[in-house]
Amino acid sequence: MAIKFPHPAWIEINLSQFRKNLEVIRGVIGDRLFCLPIKANAYGHGLTQIGKVAAECKVDYLAVAYLQEGVDLRKAGIEIPILVLGAVHEDQIGDLIDFNLEFTISSQYKAELAHSWCQRLGKTCRIHLEIDTGMQRTGIRGSSADLLFHKLEEMPFLEVVGIYSHLAVSDTPDHPFTHTQIETFNDILNHPFVKNRKLISHLANSAGLVHFPSSHRDMVRPGILSFGYLDNPSMFQGVAPFFSLKAKVSYFKVVSAGQGISYGHTHTTSKQTRIVTVPVGYGDGYRRMLSNKGSVLIRGKRFPIVGNICMDQFMVDIGDQEVYVGEEVTLIGKQGNEEITLSEIAKLCETIPYEILCLFNERIPRIYTKILT
Ligand SMILES: *Cc1c(COP(=O)(O)O)cnc(C)c1O
Repeated sequence: MAIKFPHPAWIEINLSQFRKNLEVIRGVIGDRLFCLPIKANAYGHGLTQIGKVAAECKVDYLAVAYLQEGVDLRKAGIEIPILVLGAVHEDQIGDLIDFNLEFTISSQYKAELAHSWCQRLGKTCRIHLEIDTGMQRTGIRGSSADLLFHKLEEMPFLEVVGIYSHLAVSDTPDHPFTHTQIETFNDILNHPFVKNRKLISHLANSAGLVHFPSSHRDMVRPGILSFGYLDNPSMFQGVAPFFSLKAKVSYFKVVSAGQGISYGHTHTTSKQTRIVTVPVGYGDGYRRMLSNKGSVLIRGKRFPIVGNICMDQFMVDIGDQEVYVGEEVTLIGKQGNEEITLSEIAKLCETIPYEILCLFNERIPRIYTKILT
């Protein structure tokens, strides 16, 4: 039997808003293919649940980083094409084929390896070629692509379906390098190998989709935008975050002046005050760096986190306010007229929203709602 309330903290995922985000993006991209990257547990939103909704909403492709993520999606009954973006290892090829996963080839060496595995298994596989146009991560250089194309002509077990590259600085809209990457990629798309086979070409991540129309090509791969995060996407009116982190107050006490709070006593009360305890900690993925910096919402008001965040809980100074044990606390998201945004938290942690989302682990349950706003 399912446990009714496994953890007094939870992540609320509003699937209605997610569907709306997908609709808005579909409206902008029109007939282009929509590939939704859902690596890292769908940016913390829950891999299989997000994958299922995306498939229902006519997303054309899902992209993941690793084999296991693709396998989890297939085991959840998702049948739309799935592309594994990360570099493939030889021991994975049999499973990639068995689970009908498309994967990335980004060198002649890997192409030969995959081909000989397929030959041995007597099965073909579907691959996308990755070109490095300036990320210097994975991908074959443009200058070596010609030779790879030539070799692929003699590899009948590899069915090439797509060709892609990845933008390195597209989140800086006036950076000239993105145009260099787009041009390098376009040059390769003019190669007869690509044209004759009508390969699906794809380049744009979220920032490419928003800022660089010439990067859109046959398919787009907006991740963070689909989850509602990107500054000023004027073309994408209606796209909004749908992830909130909430908890219930687990303890209340009055603390006199001059008392140190939590491990290390990094905060000392300056006067008598009321302190509540919130049952979330860095063991859930809530960054310890928010100690004495972050805040939470209770009864629609903002209150500061005081003292060091522990593994499973932290303390909040509510001053002279009244708050009862069991009341709802919002750590990320809206409450009343107040909001704690993910970018606010990311800034305090000196990182990007992506990283904050990915850190929330399986200990915090995801609760899926369908509230229309
Ligand atoms: C993660 C990823 C994306 C999505 O990037 P966003 O910035 O979230 O839009 C697109 N393409 C590749 C290859 C990726 O690894």
